[in-house]
Amino acid sequence: MPQKIVVVGGGIIGVSTAYFLSRHPANPSVTLIEASSIACGASGKAGGLLALDWHGVETASLARLSYNLHASLADQHNGRERWGYRELNTLEVSCEEVSQANQNKSSNIPSWLRGHAIRKVRNIGSPKTTAQVHPRLFCEAMVQESKNLKIIRGYVTKILGSAENPSTGVEVETDGVISVLEAEVVVVAAGPWTTKLLPSIPVSSQRAHSITIGTTNPVSPYALFTSIKMRSGNVVTPEIYPRQHEIYACGDIDKLVPLPKLAKDVQVDQERCKEIVKNISALSELLEQGEVTAMQAPEQSLEDPKTPGAVMEDSQNVAGDPVEE
Ligand SMILES: Cc1cc2nc3c(=O)[nH]c(=O)nc-3n(C[C@H](O)[C@H](O)[C@H](O)COP(=O)(O)OP(=O)(O)OC[C@H]3O[C@@H](n4cnc5c(N)ncnc54)[C@H](O)[C@@H]3O)c2cc1C
Repeated sequence: MPQKIVVVGGGIIGVSTAYFLSRHPANPSVTLIEASSIACGASGKAGGLLALDWHGVETASLARLSYNLHASLADQHNGRERWGYRELNTLEVSCEEVSQANQNKSSNIPSWLRGHAIRKVRNIGSPKTTAQVHPRLFCEAMVQESKNLKIIRGYVTKILGSAENPSTGVEVETDGVISVLEAEVVVVAAGPWTTKLLPSIPVSSQRAHSITIGTTNPVSPYALFTSIKMRSGNVVTPEIYPRQHEIYACGDIDKLVPLPKLAKDVQVDQERCKEIVKNISALSELLEQGEVTAMQAPEQSLEDPKTPGAVMEDSQNVAGDPVEE
């Protein structure tokens, strides 16, 4: 077991790797280097939905392992309170912006949705197969629960080493000063920035906007993959995840802006965020009247589908039994 390990990137992959390495019985020295702040990219601004069996064969066993690890980490570290871990139903919901026809009062529909807007509901996940976390709180807790983890706020400019001597450390820029940190092993978990350090890794990036709306009372646990036909005729497909004190929703992805050097500098287009609020307001009075508490837009990595072993998943293709017409 190597004794000196550096992890580059404080997103969910980096902090989880650091957590498990720092608790390994061989007691290695683990240093996490993050250029902005913990979970400042996609890992802090994602939906936080976990699914047991939504993966293709290549990654199905990893998905099961990850799903079960989330449950055991929540038990071990009080994740239900600390990062909002909970099992939930996941529905695919087709709706129309406003119509009083077809009053849909099924008990399968969360009480905070406008029943008359709903056209079709399919159950695509149960509390046995889908769960959620607040992703930023989860990442922060992983750092807190790591043992003797050293954290450096700095930008890794280079991975050091050669073909004969693969990894000897990293070059880090902190406040304009470059220094070298030696390591036997370097784990690169830099999300869409990975390719800046390891150009042979075929990862590109895409931006996705999301918003949160504050709630005073707890909202029933249903994750929603929606398809909303707006009065304009446009069909929009926001995903909605209610949490302990807020409801999170994310909209479409785009590639309109270049990837900035730092995760904290990804441009947020307020108009796109307002569009998400408008779209989800069609579904629910609670969402229409709630206060918007965040407008954000992380970049996430996009794996080249031609990469051997890469599986592009479309979660909306997951077949579930129709429960309501
Ligand atoms: C809107 C949206 C919703 C999503 N919803 C879900 C969901 O519900 N469920 C799900 O499972 N997934 C979801 N995802 C995907 C998920 O967020 C990502 O797969 C995951 O966060 C990737 O984590 P990461 O650690 O690889 O990368 P990131 O979160 O991007 O972290 C990389 C980190 O590395 C740091 N870094 C980069 N370069 C350097 C450098 N040179 N030196 C130092 N630090 C560096 C960055 O600052 C950043 O903090 C969603 C993504 C988006 C955009």
